[in-house]
Amino acid sequence: MSGIVGVTTDRYGNAAHYIIYGLYALQHRGQVNTGVVLLDSNQLVMKKGSGQINSLFPDNISMNLPGDRGLGHVKYGEYRKYDIEQPILPKEYDINGVNCMISLDGNILNPDFSLYKLTKALNSSLAEGKAYLSKLQGAFAGIYMDPYKMIGFRDPYGLKPICAGRLNEGYILASETCAIDSCGADLIRALDLGEMVVIQDKKIDFYKYSEQKTKKSCVFELVYIARPDSYLEDVSVYRARNRMGQKLYEEYPTDGDIVMGAPDSGLIAAIGYAEASQIPYKDGIIKNRYIGRTFLTTNEEERLKDIYIKLNPVKEVLKDQRIILIDDSIIKGSTSRRTVKMLREAGAKEVHVRISSPMYRYTCNLSMDVPQEEALMAHNKTCEQIRKEIGADSLYYLSYEGLLEACKGSEFCDHCITGNYPIDYSEN
Ligand code: SF4
Repeated sequence: MSGIVGVTTDRYGNAAHYIIYGLYALQHRGQVNTGVVLLDSNQLVMKKGSGQINSLFPDNISMNLPGDRGLGHVKYGEYRKYDIEQPILPKEYDINGVNCMISLDGNILNPDFSLYKLTKALNSSLAEGKAYLSKLQGAFAGIYMDPYKMIGFRDPYGLKPICAGRLNEGYILASETCAIDSCGADLIRALDLGEMVVIQDKKIDFYKYSEQKTKKSCVFELVYIARPDSYLEDVSVYRARNRMGQKLYEEYPTDGDIVMGAPDSGLIAAIGYAEASQIPYKDGIIKNRYIGRTFLTTNEEERLKDIYIKLNPVKEVLKDQRIILIDDSIIKGSTSRRTVKMLREAGAKEVHVRISSPMYRYTCNLSMDVPQEEALMAHNKTCEQIRKEIGADSLYYLSYEGLLEACKGSEFCDHCITGNYPIDYSEN
């Protein structure tokens, strides 16, 4: 998965800081690589590298960079085939005499897919862009840019999010609304499924390129991926996660002394659980906020080391308590096992784990970077087997119906939960 942002402004030298602010807001979508490319009619400036945005721009030099437009990209790429650094190299994309570039979040499955062909089609004309996009299968959102126009697009099932906003002096496209907010822009709206947006000559126009009507947004954007202060269409990610916690309690009330969230992934659902149960919410683990997101650390050994460097239990809160620990998911199980162990070592009397989504059983080749099924904790295991493996006193997962109620919708991809693949290949 990735975070993408594109900016066009009326003022020379003004794009860089918006892109950088946007990437800071989207950093949760990827911490492995960061790229920024700035463009104007005469030159381009490209900065790409491994790590986070602050390692690419350590001295806040953005104010001195040229360009009235540009793209930014943050990437997580442990299991994905697009391990190229984005935005894609503009020099190779000099089409019809202009520099073109593109950033993608997602995964396009067509065996003959080529970023060059997509970029060329978007450069050529609206009709060619629409025709090329309509042939693509997969979960994707992207931004194309040249010195004259910026084009955003979203896949025909709406699996990946992308939205448009208005700056004082231009426009911004970004994976999530939190990036629009962080640039002080006004949200225009999210792109619809199978839709593209063209920003050219200070105008913004939306076009449908696909007749596909079945929406299948990635439900894990609401569960895990998106930032809680974002909106996906008109659904608040915060409210959805809070309701997941409430539903967990409604479905499976549990006696306990304190409710706590696994940092940071379970915090909002834990607040919802505490509100519904009237059991006090406590911070039982303190997170060192200067270390990156554990799930996004690519090496398993490093990840396990990270957990101890990153998290420290508050013995004062945990000792002799029956703890209800809320997390958003169990992917490989190693983090849950360590967290339960950590709570017990800190003196917890009981640890009851509650997961605010159903079992993650099948690997995702569309949106989320997860390992193959053999490595997924819930693949071919019962809840009781998982409970034993993570060492909890009890374990309960939110039902799929509960998840849909919490998300206030039903138009979601659920392949990782049910095994039902959302894309019908025969349609194309
Ligand atoms: S399989 Fe799961 S993680 Fe992947 S797109 Fe579907 S809902 Fe999202």
